[in-house]
Amino acid sequence: LIAFLLYLFYLVAPVGQLVQGFTEVQNGLAAVRRIREVEELPGEVAGTTGHLAGGAPAGVVFEGVAFRYGDDRPAVHDSVSFEVAAGGLTALVGPSGAGKSTVFALIERFYDHQAGTIAIDGRDIREWPLAGLRACLGYVEQDAPVLDGTLRENLVFAAPDATETGIARVLERTRLEDLVARLPEGLDTRVGHRGVMLSGGERQRVAIARALLRGPRLLLLDEATSQLDAVNESRLREVVAEVAKETTVLVIAHRLSTVTGADRIVVMEAGRVRAVGTHDELLAGDPLYRELAATQFLLPT
Ligand code: ATP
Repeated sequence: LIAFLLYLFYLVAPVGQLVQGFTEVQNGLAAVRRIREVEELPGEVAGTTGHLAGGAPAGVVFEGVAFRYGDDRPAVHDSVSFEVAAGGLTALVGPSGAGKSTVFALIERFYDHQAGTIAIDGRDIREWPLAGLRACLGYVEQDAPVLDGTLRENLVFAAPDATETGIARVLERTRLEDLVARLPEGLDTRVGHRGVMLSGGERQRVAIARALLRGPRLLLLDEATSQLDAVNESRLREVVAEVAKETTVLVIAHRLSTVTGADRIVVMEAGRVRAVGTHDELLAGDPLYRELAATQFLLPT
């Protein structure tokens, strides 16, 4: 029997190594692809000057923007026009694949649009220095990871000069004070991978706090898709509304309940803006928005 088991091991081990080797090769290829993508990012346009970082909330205008990810790819945006008013809450909603995340990628200049204009504070984004442009933006991704470290480290890693007062202020604005009070060592409690696990709602608020510490003029928030309990959902709604009083917030909303109070909601479908309005205006005037609202139980049945 032992000989048979040894023989089996002898047979199986190389397969395991092969699988492992294959995975490594795949990981390697993925890394090369990512490096290529970074190398192919739009570069600095010569002669750009000016300071976008610091200062008042920024306004953004998309005018007739057309974009495809490659010459042989279908158009993702087809003459997209809408306005994000400086200081206030604008929401992007629409079915999956409508082109909402691509709006963020274009504002951050991870890609350059092929036609039309994207302007911040009335000036084409290609005319702003790239570093200055990115420094004025805060981006909170959909399911933001919490790093294995203390809560404080998680907050300040992109803003090492943050003061205690600054940290206390963002904790208050993101309704994280309760969490800090509950953690055994407060801000110095280890969270993430090997520490205290945070809920989806808490993770997103930590990511918002982290972005706010950098003082963005425009916060791009891709709302968490993970299920939030009622308390976390209402906290997120409060936080988004409050942050929008001090800076411009553009949110990709997956839950309409977060944005019913938005100043402006942009409904996207298949790479186009099909309607713009407030929640009430869209409920009355846009069938797709009504349908989205109905499926999310915001309407009486
Ligand atoms: P979701 O709500 O599912 O995130 P979305 O409205 O944000 O959807 P986008 O992510 O902007 O839509 O995608 C729009 C289209 O562009 C989709 O067809 C998608 O497959 C394609 N796409 C998105 N990112 C890339 C990319 N990096 N390279 C190629 N195609 C992409």
